[in-house]
Amino acid sequence: MNSHLQLIPRQPAAGQFMGMCLKGFVILLTSLVLLSCDKEPEWKKVTLPDLSNRTITLSVVSVVNPRFPELTDTQLQEILHKTTAMTKQHFGLSVNFTKPTSVPVKTFFNYLKDNVKKQRHKDIVKFAGVSEEEKRKMREGVYKTLGLYWNDREVVADYARPYLLTPYEGDDFKQLAKALVETLLIRLQYWQHQKAEDGKPVIDDKPYNEWVWWDSIGYGDMPYDVVITNQIVASAEVYDMSVHSSIRGGITAGTTTYSEQSQFNAYAYIMVYPMLNNSDMLVQLRNDEQYTDEQITTYAAALLTHELGHLLLHLGHPFGNQNCVMSPTPLLKYREWYEGLDASQCLLNSEEMMTPGVTRLDYRADW
Ligand SMILES: [Zn+2]
Repeated sequence: MNSHLQLIPRQPAAGQFMGMCLKGFVILLTSLVLLSCDKEPEWKKVTLPDLSNRTITLSVVSVVNPRFPELTDTQLQEILHKTTAMTKQHFGLSVNFTKPTSVPVKTFFNYLKDNVKKQRHKDIVKFAGVSEEEKRKMREGVYKTLGLYWNDREVVADYARPYLLTPYEGDDFKQLAKALVETLLIRLQYWQHQKAEDGKPVIDDKPYNEWVWWDSIGYGDMPYDVVITNQIVASAEVYDMSVHSSIRGGITAGTTTYSEQSQFNAYAYIMVYPMLNNSDMLVQLRNDEQYTDEQITTYAAALLTHELGHLLLHLGHPFGNQNCVMSPTPLLKYREWYEGLDASQCLLNSEEMMTPGVTRLDYRADW
């Protein structure tokens, strides 16, 4: 759901100004930060796939952390089977999948390139002892994302308001960014203390929970189009912070982002940790005690369909339109979200966010 997808901006955004920057500094109206031209990053855009009515075959890997409950092979197959049906239903696309291979998360993370790790390390905010400076950067990160929804301020504010842990009125995005960061940090604390079935902390000293690394792994030789993982991805960072991940306390249930080796120059991951585990926080965010086998595979398929809307069609988020699989799941209420979907009421091109190519998927060409 989170992603390195940027809407084709209606408000001035950083990318539009890059080419105009000659010497000195340029003020970015959206973020009010100063950018030095010497350090201008080389952002490029992934091309919108030309699908030309063909059947699309996507390669799949199951990335497993043995510390956590895992999907069975049957469940995996069922998720892919249901996703084929849902992508037809919601997008009119014919999609099938290769038989999933299974890779330990430790091995999967070897795809991370050293230079990218070095560049991105500074974007991670460590849970314990978040400084005021880091909070400020986080607020800026959220505010920048919010700026992409400038024309839908009220809709986005209404979407977030019921789930915020600090009061928020109106549709002022600066205030909303503050409330989102506070909510994220409060909910994120939970994972510091929560233990997995092996008695050790769910989030330990390993890097696997950090969204930044899942967003960066495609710069290496990672060959897959789709990743399904039982690893929890819950973290705080200073860029691309989304509204829906913030209200969940930094849980990012899925992402579509750049991948050099994947056939459409992007890959999608979904994580099923929130469906397979039943800790207090998850029960609260889901509004369900636990899911049946049928629910797990159905909701995971809906989540993957959402990501494939980003991957194959570069669709956006029609916040507030509950018929759309592209509207992000509020908190982790998969049941309510799924039951509200109606593809016939959310056709492609029926609104701006459902228009192929509405978002741009950016990557650093110099990495
Ligand atoms: Zn999304």
